[in-house]
Amino acid sequence: MSSENKGKPGEKAAQFSMPTPLSNLEIKYTKIFINNEWHTSVSGKKFPVFNPATGEKICEVEEGDKEDVDKAVKAAREAFQLGSPWRRMDASERGKLLHKLADLMERDILILSTLESIDAGKAFTASYFADLPGAIKSLRYYAGWADKNHGRTVPMDGDYFTFTRHEPVGVCGQIIPWNFPLVMFSWKIAPALSNGNTVVIKPAEQTPLTALYMGSLIKEAGIPAGVVNIVPGYGPTAGAAISHHMDINKVAFTGSTEVGKLIKEAAGKTNLKRVTLELGGKSPVIIFADADLNVAVEQAHQGLFYHQGQCCIAGSRIFVEEPIYEEFVRRSAERAKQRVLGDPLLPTTQQGPQIDKEQYDRILELIESGKKEGAKLECGGGAWGDKGFFIQPTVFSNVKDDMRIAKEEIFGPVQQIMSFKTIDEVIKRANNTTYGLAAGVFTKDLDKAMTISTALQAGTVWINCYSAMSPQCPFGGFKMSGNGREMGEYGLHAYTEVKTVTMKIPQKNS
Ligand code: NAP
Ligand code: MG
Repeated sequence: MSSENKGKPGEKAAQFSMPTPLSNLEIKYTKIFINNEWHTSVSGKKFPVFNPATGEKICEVEEGDKEDVDKAVKAAREAFQLGSPWRRMDASERGKLLHKLADLMERDILILSTLESIDAGKAFTASYFADLPGAIKSLRYYAGWADKNHGRTVPMDGDYFTFTRHEPVGVCGQIIPWNFPLVMFSWKIAPALSNGNTVVIKPAEQTPLTALYMGSLIKEAGIPAGVVNIVPGYGPTAGAAISHHMDINKVAFTGSTEVGKLIKEAAGKTNLKRVTLELGGKSPVIIFADADLNVAVEQAHQGLFYHQGQCCIAGSRIFVEEPIYEEFVRRSAERAKQRVLGDPLLPTTQQGPQIDKEQYDRILELIESGKKEGAKLECGGGAWGDKGFFIQPTVFSNVKDDMRIAKEEIFGPVQQIMSFKTIDEVIKRANNTTYGLAAGVFTKDLDKAMTISTALQAGTVWINCYSAMSPQCPFGGFKMSGNGREMGEYGLHAYTEVKTVTMKIPQKNS
C-alpha cells in the first residue's frame, strides 16, 4: 500500500477496501521503557492522556523526569559500550532488525492506526493510509543504509595511508512532537539505529501511546536491551533533562522554534552535544495566473488543512497572482466548506480535533486577530461541535503581510490568501520571514518555476505539487526553521562521526 502523502486520505481510502478501526482497544503500554523492560517512574508520578476528540481521559502514563532520563541514559550508554552485543553486531544484521521492526508494524497496523487516531485526534484514514506506511517506509529505507554508510580512502600528502571510518555518534537524545507521533518516532530512531547509535526518546506529553507500543515491538523484534529507551514525560522536566545531559552525545528535536532555541542553549551550556533541529514554518505557496487552477486550489487546500493544519510544512501564506485572485479565493472557500469534520475514527472524516485546549485557544485567538486586523473572513472563523477541540475550516482573503495571521505559525485549519503583481515582488515577500522550511510554486512556465525555486529560502520547494514526501528526500529548514537535515542520505550525517585514520607507510630506502 503506498498512499503516503498523496493527499485526501478520506477520499483515497474509498478506492481500497476500508479497514475498520479497532473498537475498545486495550491500552497495554503505559510505563517507561528502559533496557527492554517496563518501569514505573522514580517519583511515582503519572500523567493523564486525553482523547482530543472527546476531551475524555484515555489512561494515565508513568511520568518520566530527570532520574528516569538518567536511568535511560545509563542503559543506552551500556548498550553502546565497545564489545556490547549492539556494537559487535554486523551492520547488515542491524538492517535486518529494522526490517523486522517494520514487519511487526505492518502486522499491527490496525492497532497502531487506531491508537494514533485516539491519542492524536488524527483521522483514522490518515493514520492508516499515510502515517503508518510513512513510518514503516522510513524504517525500511534506513535498514537498507545500515551496511552502506562507508568511509573513504584519502590521497593524503606524504608516505601515509589514510582512510575514514563512519562511526556512530553515541547516545542520542530525541525529543518529538504530537502532530506526527509515529512518523517522528520512526524518523528519529531509524537513522540512529541504522548507524549503530543508541537512543533515549521522549514522545510528546499529549501523544505517548504509540511510542510506548513501539517499545513492545522493539523488544519483540530482538533489538538488544538498552538500544532504544522511551521516556514519556513533560518537556521542561524530562525533555530538559535530555537536552542538558552530560552523557548524551547528540540531541535531535522536532517542535517549536522557541523550544528549539532552548535545546541549543542547553547543549552550549553543557557538553556541546551535537544538535539537529526541525522547527516551525510559515511556508509560502505561490500561484501564477497560468497555473492549472484546479490542481493549485486542491494542493493549496491539502497543503494547509491536512491534519487540521498541524503540520510544520503547512502552506500558510498563499500568494496568488492578481488576475486569478478572486476566482482562487472563491474556489478555496468552496473547497474548505466541503471538508468533513467529525469523529476521527469514522472513515468519512477528513478533519478531526486540534490536539489540546492550549492549541485550540491559540488558534481561535489568532482567528480573532485576523478579523480585527481587517482580513476578510470567507468561511469558518470559529469553533465546531459541542465537545472536543474542533475548529471550522477557515479561509481569510485580503490578508496583508504585516497581519499576525500572515506572520505567526497558526498550526490550525486557517488559510491566508494574499495577492501579488510581479515575480520580484512575490519573491521578496515570500522570503520576508524568519522561517524557511518549505515552499510551493504553481505555474506551467518552467522559467518561472526555476527562478522561484532558486530564489526561495526554504529547505524544500515543491513545483506544481505540495507536501509530497518520501524517506529518500532530505528534509529540514533554512533560517529559524531548523538546523541539519533528516531523511535521505543527508540524514545519515547527523548520526555519524567521521574518524580519520592515518598509517605511516614504511619506505624501502628509509
Ligand atoms: P513544543 O513545546 O516545542 O514541543 C515539542 C517537544 O518538545 C515535546 O516533546 C515537548 O514536551 C518538548 N519540550 C517542551 N519544552 C521543552 C524543554 N524546555 N526542553 C526540552 N523539551 C521540551 O511544541 P508545543 O508546545 O507542543 O507546540 C507549540 C507550537 O510549536 C505549535 O503551535 C507549533 O507552532 C509548533 N510545533 C511545531 C511542530 C513541528 O512539527 N515543527 C510540532 C509541534 C508543534 P511536551 O510534550 O511536554 O510539551
Ligand atoms: Mg510545549
